[in-house]
Amino acid sequence: MSDDVDVPESHPRYESLLTRHRIEAGVDKGITSRQGLIAQGRGEAYDYLLGEETIESADRAERAAAASLLSAEHAVISVNGNAAALVPGELVELAEVTGAALEVNLFNRTEERIERIADHLREHGASEVKGLTADGRIPGLDHERAKVDADGIGDADVVLVPLEDGDRAEALGEMGKTELVVDLNPLSRSAQVATVPIVDNIIRAIPNITDHARDLADDADAQRAVIENFDADAALTDAEETIRGGT
Ligand code: ATP
Ligand code: MG
Repeated sequence: MSDDVDVPESHPRYESLLTRHRIEAGVDKGITSRQGLIAQGRGEAYDYLLGEETIESADRAERAAAASLLSAEHAVISVNGNAAALVPGELVELAEVTGAALEVNLFNRTEERIERIADHLREHGASEVKGLTADGRIPGLDHERAKVDADGIGDADVVLVPLEDGDRAEALGEMGKTELVVDLNPLSRSAQVATVPIVDNIIRAIPNITDHARDLADDADAQRAVIENFDADAALTDAEETIRGGT
């Protein structure tokens, strides 16, 4: 990650500064919305309290997410402006390893930004990127917020939604989809309604899900066991206790 910024690696908060810079660059490139800057700031505060590391319960959630993606009939990874700015290549790799599709899906939707994000993902190796057809709708949301590809998120049984808005996360859950949410705030509605809440920085979460997916590939029994044994409430409680108590 040393390609794009002038932060000395010796700086004690190197990773954090780099992450921030990536979001800034995303805004400059027209990939990330200005609200994305605020979202990043909120996330950083929680990450600081988590010790900027993947806690054990998050690692278990990441393994459950990997198992869910692998055993899905039709898995889709939803990509917004922050995710695209922070982990484009890592998302493409996760899609490849799990056989999931990539779909650009924005809270503040504009065709132009969708195109730019799709191009950005292609530059990072994606072959197919969904999100521009927008011929499907999520019931219960207003027009612009409801748009999805009918043969993408619309038809998916498992969706990975990093940094998703609470309303949309809830509406997707009501469609009966298995929802895998990456969100550093365990109290966020998105995390609360998730089938698998992953309370971790997307920077660490996505590569770790990919590692687990490589490990679980071709073992349907192991995938099933990981999914059955995962406890979403325990994961949320553990993350909240870590943040509040520093344990
Ligand atoms: P609520 O869900 O409580 O209504 P919100 O959805 O309005 O809050 P936003 O700021 O829109 O909050 O959402 C951003 C969410 O994404 C926050 O919960 C924040 O913790 C999380 N977030 C931001 N950056 C990252 C990151 N790099 N990795 C993981 N999560 C992040
Ligand atoms: Mg939220």
